[in-house]
Amino acid sequence: MNAPGKIQKLDEVVVNRIAAGEVIQRPANALKELIENSLDAKATNIQIIAKEGGLKLLQIQDNGTGIRKDDMDIVCERFTTSKLQTFEDLKTIATFGFRGEALASISHVALLTITTKTTNEKCAYKASYIDSKLKDLPKPCAGNQGTIITIENLFYNVATRRKALSNVIEEFSKITDVVTKYAIHNPTVGFVLKKHGDITPQVRTAPNSTKMNNVRVLYGNPVFRELLEVELTDEAYKFKMHALITNPNYTNKRMVFLLFINNRLVDSSTIRKMLEELYTFYLPKKTHPWCYISLEIEPQNIDVNVHPTKHEVRFLHENSIIERIKSALDEKLSGNSASRTFYVQA
Ligand code: ADP
Ligand code: MG
Repeated sequence: MNAPGKIQKLDEVVVNRIAAGEVIQRPANALKELIENSLDAKATNIQIIAKEGGLKLLQIQDNGTGIRKDDMDIVCERFTTSKLQTFEDLKTIATFGFRGEALASISHVALLTITTKTTNEKCAYKASYIDSKLKDLPKPCAGNQGTIITIENLFYNVATRRKALSNVIEEFSKITDVVTKYAIHNPTVGFVLKKHGDITPQVRTAPNSTKMNNVRVLYGNPVFRELLEVELTDEAYKFKMHALITNPNYTNKRMVFLLFINNRLVDSSTIRKMLEELYTFYLPKKTHPWCYISLEIEPQNIDVNVHPTKHEVRFLHENSIIERIKSALDEKLSGNSASRTFYVQA
């Protein structure tokens, strides 16, 4: 009666689909990976089109290096990457993606098409992939230097996920958020985000802009006017920070927080907590700041492998580093609030 169930090996297709669903949770995740790939490929222009919150169609076009034609048959296989050769490389890798999983994962939960042209090739090549594999041989076609990645019918084969993501407005707003944040962090790259069929873009930045100017364009003058810039180079813990944070004149109902560590958009609940705590000294109750923080930390001190989405980051000497960031920001804020008090009293 209590006989154990027979242990069976899951079908490989099912295994891959489950793994892919962990890496790619929603259109905005997929897009983040694709933007990072375009930036890795040194693109200076990135154009994104989304249909039905990216679920029906998500397309990203860049003017980067392109993909060599010979690589097109393996580019979507798991653990294929041009960015890392040995385990040791993992420690020093400076590019964003690092383990060759993004395209493979996407191809397990969507139809993925790549159109790409390198400088050496006379024409572009186009190929579609399902479950990591080429559907047909790459076909020559017309095209500009760079890469277009098209994702269609995301999660067509994962009914539960597809159902859970039925709010296309919410998905598009998450997409907008990712593009907006990358555009702030990469002001020398021009970004355009459009809803399929729309003429006016949701996001547009010029190449060769500045972070400050992109904040003004994307978050508006009320944030831009009150920005404080803080820079910090720390020899002891070997990290650098560039921050733009609002002074105490600015308040918002919720905190807007952009965190980049080594050029990847990530989250850190400890840094978030530190900011909330710091600003309680400067802002009225239940009001919050706007903060952008970019950290450069020695790659060997970071553990980005905590979760398959690589979203929450852990790093060595975390508490000490966060303490130093806090005092640098506090110094700037206190200087500013002192002058404000003076101004109010005068
Ligand atoms: P990773 O970024 O970790 O290498 P991905 O699955 O994201 O893994 O990409 C696999 C490979 O495909 C990359 O290493 C790169 O060589 C190539 N690639 C992907 N997207 C682009 C792009 N937009 N431009 C040029 N090459 C790309
Ligand atoms: Mg990648």
